[in-house]
Amino acid sequence: MFKSFKEGIFKLVHKLKEKSLTEKEIESIIDDFYITLISNDVALNVADEIINEVKLSLIGKSVSRFTNISELFLDSLRSALYNTLKLGQGGDLCDIIKRSDKPFSIVFFGVNGVGKTTTIAKVAWMLKNKGFSVVMACSDTFRAAAIEQLEYHADKLGVKMIRHNYGSDPAAVAFDAISHAKSKKIDVVLIDTAGRQHSNINLMDELRKIVRVINPSYKILVLDALTGNDAYNQAIYFEEGVGVDALIFTKVDADVKGGAIITVIRTIKKPVLYLGIGQKYEDLIPYDPNYILSRLLI
Ligand code: GDP
Repeated sequence: MFKSFKEGIFKLVHKLKEKSLTEKEIESIIDDFYITLISNDVALNVADEIINEVKLSLIGKSVSRFTNISELFLDSLRSALYNTLKLGQGGDLCDIIKRSDKPFSIVFFGVNGVGKTTTIAKVAWMLKNKGFSVVMACSDTFRAAAIEQLEYHADKLGVKMIRHNYGSDPAAVAFDAISHAKSKKIDVVLIDTAGRQHSNINLMDELRKIVRVINPSYKILVLDALTGNDAYNQAIYFEEGVGVDALIFTKVDADVKGGAIITVIRTIKKPVLYLGIGQKYEDLIPYDPNYILSRLLI
């Protein structure tokens, strides 16, 4: 993400070698930052706010020709981005589950392909390892192979999965899973939902019905870090449609630009629980602002 920042700064620093930095020159470097933020999927208003913070932090700083100007500017930008990423801290799922009534039911939302089912399997693996008992529910009764996909993970993990037939009521599946958990004293119910994008009104009605019928303990939105601005639009769509308690970003192991993560965290203001960093069960790490920042600062 910062490659072009560094190039931009290098050019200016070169010009500024023998004199002190003027306000106009600060502005021109900041403009470079702004353009790079936008071209890396940071939303315009968020880029504006971040640039303003960088400017404010630089005003009044004394510089001479011996000052490492590129480091000064980059440090200031790093702080502004870190402060934004820090807003995503604050969610410890295991702690929340420990403190809550059981069974603790979690509905996972997210459009097809973001990695929702894989993430549910990762969460089940992690919870089992921490000593929680888990049941899964396949409330995606729409997409061909959705049930078999979740079942594959359930079998591998040794976790029971509640399923109905394709075309049946997703809310009824979730309800049955919670009843099962109550009768067997299972700690956590993980509910997979549909994420079709081509009949959105139906989808949101279906998700709202699940939420109405089971009143879940927690609602997690899964977002693909690689989808740029789409992740932001999805966050707004699900937050407005069903409400979201927390986020998980997947595919952070891939070459993420990071702008969407920054925009979503800054605008949605929800905790980020975990980051998906690969396809294996263990590739789910607690959210860490520094992990994201270090991946952006290449
Ligand atoms: P769903 O349609 O949202 O349920 O998505 P899936 O769970 O089927 O995942 C879609 C693809 O993304 C699969 O190939 C997963 O292996 C892959 N995937 C999921 N999470 C991650 C991740 O954190 N990193 C990488 N590299 N791939 C992931």
